[in-house]
Amino acid sequence: MKNTTILITGASSGIGKATAELFAKNGARLILCGRRQERLDQLKDSLNTEVHLLNFDVRDRTAVFEAIESLPSQWKQIDVLINNAGNAHGLDPVQTADLDDWDAMIDGNVKGVMYVTKAILPQMIERKAGQIINLGSIAGLEVYPNGNVYCASKFAVDAFTQGLRIDLNPYGIRVGAIHPGLVETEFSMVRFKGDETRSKNVYATITALQAQDIAHAIEYMVAVPPHVTIADITLLPTDQANATVVNRKQ
Ligand code: NAP
Repeated sequence: MKNTTILITGASSGIGKATAELFAKNGARLILCGRRQERLDQLKDSLNTEVHLLNFDVRDRTAVFEAIESLPSQWKQIDVLINNAGNAHGLDPVQTADLDDWDAMIDGNVKGVMYVTKAILPQMIERKAGQIINLGSIAGLEVYPNGNVYCASKFAVDAFTQGLRIDLNPYGIRVGAIHPGLVETEFSMVRFKGDETRSKNVYATITALQAQDIAHAIEYMVAVPPHVTIADITLLPTDQANATVVNRKQ
């Protein structure tokens, strides 16, 4: 992966951070994105590879395009885009859910992926080369109780990924999605708005996936020969059978 330039959104924690660490070990050049600048700075300092940081909110259309436009010439060719930024906000029935949570999920998980993709695509199309990997979820394949809008956002990511693969077919650009089950990151802290007990309970009685497990799957999607497209990977902890069946040990 030497000389490969990889842009990762949501690199300041969890899956994005672990993916950055793994690709850095492989010698890739990294464009790392997020909103928490201090986290990005710390990550950059810890990595033994060339890194360029971009700070923007994926929900902000203007900010997304300005950030990509601002890349110095030596960073303009992006070989791999990993659309990872996203979160769940709340776990409530439709009738009592907070509309702000819905906006955050639709704007971040869906429109964010679309904006970043659109901003980066022209140079891939021009070169007839590149790869885009979107973070879906088991929640994008099956709906679970109270998952309503988070699930809708990840179903949309799946549909967008499939549409993108069709549209980009003439250009030799590889497009795929990765659909994890329960991964132990800051995800539940965000979903439960900083409620540590609720967040810990999600992972306490199972052996959850770790961010590094997802990073290895992403690495595989990138490392296969250029004539191979991994369209989807669904990755579950062995303790999880599908979106709702989880073998919790008391
Ligand atoms: P995480 O630790 O909370 O990381 C989320 C990342 O996304 C952070 O780096 C955050 O950075 C960034 N982000 C969130 N909203 C953003 C916004 N509006 N603009 C820019 N960056 C934003 O969670 P994670 O588990 O690694 O999640 C990564 C992806 O995996 C998400 O798309 C999530 O839906 C998906 N996923 C997670 C699980 C799971 O169980 N953990 C399962 C399936 C799929 P800043 O806050 O610094 O901006």
